[in-house]
Amino acid sequence: MDLHDIVHCIKAYLFSPRGSQGKPLISFAAIGLLQDSFMNKYDYDIIVIGGGAAGFVSSKLASGLGKKVAMIEKDKLGGECTLNGCIPSKALIKTSRIAHQIINAGRYGLAIHPPLDINTDHVMAHVRSAVQQVYDGHRPEAFQKLGIDVLFGAPTFIDNHQIQTS
Ligand SMILES: Cc1cc2nc3c(=O)[nH]c(=O)nc-3n(C[C@H](O)[C@H](O)[C@H](O)COP(=O)(O)OP(=O)(O)OC[C@H]3O[C@@H](n4cnc5c(N)ncnc54)[C@H](O)[C@@H]3O)c2cc1C
Repeated sequence: MDLHDIVHCIKAYLFSPRGSQGKPLISFAAIGLLQDSFMNKYDYDIIVIGGGAAGFVSSKLASGLGKKVAMIEKDKLGGECTLNGCIPSKALIKTSRIAHQIINAGRYGLAIHPPLDINTDHVMAHVRSAVQQVYDGHRPEAFQKLGIDVLFGAPTFIDNHQIQTS
């Protein structure tokens, strides 16, 4: 809860409809919110489950807004985009485009001898190194620096407000 929320609570208290004895009808909700916040009841304002693209954006956004954030990942940070999707596919597409241009270089007056030797092991090594490079850019330490706690494990809900990681 930030200053903005607190102002809302105070406004809700002051301007809420009055009951028969002149008492505000929604004051309890507002006071409850304030108490929750000031008693510092929870370890985190937000816990993000999953350290993929969506987890990265939401945890950084919440942290940037001043919230105390934890992100829980059951495997490796990065999710599909870094590890299996966007990054490896784009690295492979780039390699295939270069191969295509080399193979068709004759059209542009460039004769290439000897013909292109495509070694798939080398290509895949390049793809893996591209993945590693991106992964290195979002290691847990990078999130810790922003004040986001990164936890590894499979989380389970104990109740509406508590999560336990294995
Ligand atoms: C071949 C391919 C190419 C793509 N190319 C692009 C592209 O160029 N541009 C683009 O924008 N998108 C692309 N995408 C799509 C992109 O990968 C997804 O949109 C994106 O990864 C979705 O992110 P996410 O965080 O929602 O899910 P995910 O990336 O799936 O991340 C979810 C994370 O949550 C973790 N997780 C799941 N369950 C739990 C649990 N119970 N507890 C803890 N952690 C958990 C997972 O381990 C994972 O790390 C591509 C996808 C594929 C397959």
